[in-house]
Amino acid sequence: MADYDVIVIGAGCGGLSAGAQLARQGRRVLVLEQSGRVGGCCSTFEKQGFHFDVGASLIEDAPLINLAFERLGTRVWDEVDLIPCDPIYTVVLKDGTHVRYPASVRASADEIRRLAPGDADRWYDFVGYMEDFADSASCLFTSPTVTLADMARIFARSPKLARFGPLFISSYQDVLKRFFRDDRVRESLAYQTFFVGLPPELAPGLFAIIPYGEHNGLYYSKGGMIAIPVALQRCGERFGMEVRLNTLVRRVLVRGGRAIGVVLADGTEITTSVVVSNVNARTLYLNMIGQEYLPWLARVGIKSYQYAFSIPMLYVGVDYTPPLGSHHTLVTIPMEEMNRYWWSEYRQGRFDPQKQFGIISWTTHSDPALAPPGHHVLAFILTPAPYHYPWDEAKPALTEQLIDYFTRYVPGLAHHVRVAELSTPLDFERRLLVPEGTIYAFRQDITNQTVFRPAARSKSIRGLYLTGASTHPGGGVPTTIASGVIAADLVERYE
Ligand SMILES: Cc1cc2nc3c(=O)[nH]c(=O)nc-3n(C[C@H](O)[C@H](O)[C@H](O)COP(=O)(O)OP(=O)(O)OC[C@H]3O[C@@H](n4cnc5c(N)ncnc54)[C@H](O)[C@@H]3O)c2cc1C
Repeated sequence: MADYDVIVIGAGCGGLSAGAQLARQGRRVLVLEQSGRVGGCCSTFEKQGFHFDVGASLIEDAPLINLAFERLGTRVWDEVDLIPCDPIYTVVLKDGTHVRYPASVRASADEIRRLAPGDADRWYDFVGYMEDFADSASCLFTSPTVTLADMARIFARSPKLARFGPLFISSYQDVLKRFFRDDRVRESLAYQTFFVGLPPELAPGLFAIIPYGEHNGLYYSKGGMIAIPVALQRCGERFGMEVRLNTLVRRVLVRGGRAIGVVLADGTEITTSVVVSNVNARTLYLNMIGQEYLPWLARVGIKSYQYAFSIPMLYVGVDYTPPLGSHHTLVTIPMEEMNRYWWSEYRQGRFDPQKQFGIISWTTHSDPALAPPGHHVLAFILTPAPYHYPWDEAKPALTEQLIDYFTRYVPGLAHHVRVAELSTPLDFERRLLVPEGTIYAFRQDITNQTVFRPAARSKSIRGLYLTGASTHPGGGVPTTIASGVIAADLVERYE
């Protein structure tokens, strides 16, 4: 008899979500995590009394997260103290205009009317259209997309989806241009394209749903983002799930085309009936399993995936109250400039601390306990950045330059820094074994989505399942939690 029914490699949101669901099915589940805490990119660490979020800092689509908790017999609202962020953002446009987007759709229309009266009615058209799309598309995020038959089942269950075909073949930019005439309105709604990991001209149009979806609630979790994976861990442990930290898995054992266990860094072998991987699918197949176990088509396929970009984070602890309007400040530039940045800076391997746009997340605005009394925490989510860059040498100077640059958006910042740390793509890779520090595993254009993304049930190795950003429905906290539910459903069906 195997040591466990299921071994989950990695305690990110996807791994914990899958592990908890599988424990609920009555299976003996062991989650192995190489680092000293759970959550992976959605986690929180402490430095000199300041608590910084590692990566993720916004909680979107709480209902999708809640679905996973409901399947565990509870509700996300009972397990995590979710603090609504309202206004959703203060957007600072390139020309210096401030746009405050409240959660209310109507109040947001008033804000748009202030910028461009004609676009206020178009905002309602946009919201209505995206509302319909959200209704039709919800099963896309909770259903497996392993085969074309799975895709056909999704469309059969939600035939209205076919009406939104243009969203699948147009770009994010096309959708904003179709609905809004004013460049500043477009600019104020464009940054979310990077939540997909691509600039406005390359991101699929369906993701223009994000700036609408945020109006259903954007949250921050009390205690930092780690509160979400900790809650998943707690729920799983109620059903007997075990989590072992500081335990690196080196290899997946395969015999007769089936995953039968794992080998740890110290050489220990643990046997299991099912392996669920929460690590990047390229790393899994090429380094932890080995090409010799893959059919040639799978070898070619897995090598063809391109990593999504990485985003450096600047964590800053300050000894004053930053003069900001809201938890999230979005520093943005016009859409065309975002596209240009992609091609002429990011794709050329450049990172310019003077050309930053991104999000300033003032986490102590929502949860003051994340810093010592009278102090605050700011996290700066920076522009897409190349992996091949002399990060280690550049880091001290970049930290200073970035603080200087952002002082124009956070007056007084440079004089009040108590702790500052820049987390580069190399740091993400070293700490979390995320290859190239990629934010969403693989690019999320239409050719890397659904049935084209690595399958949640391996087509090459029996008993092997994937969860997390590498597989459908892709990167992001809610989507990786949903991927855990999908993996668990597949295990239930086939094992
Ligand atoms: C800078 C940044 C900002 C982001 N902002 C947001 C945001 O605001 N909102 C949002 O929704 N999403 C955001 N995301 C994306 C989101 O955080 C991720 O998509 C999601 O958390 C990834 O979850 P995952 O399940 O794929 O696993 P990961 O978070 O990648 O975790 C995988 C875990 O596996 C462990 N592991 C790896 N290899 C091994 C091994 N061999 N043995 C044992 N353990 C191993 C790692 O240590 C890690 O803990 C952001 C990501 C980044 C990087």
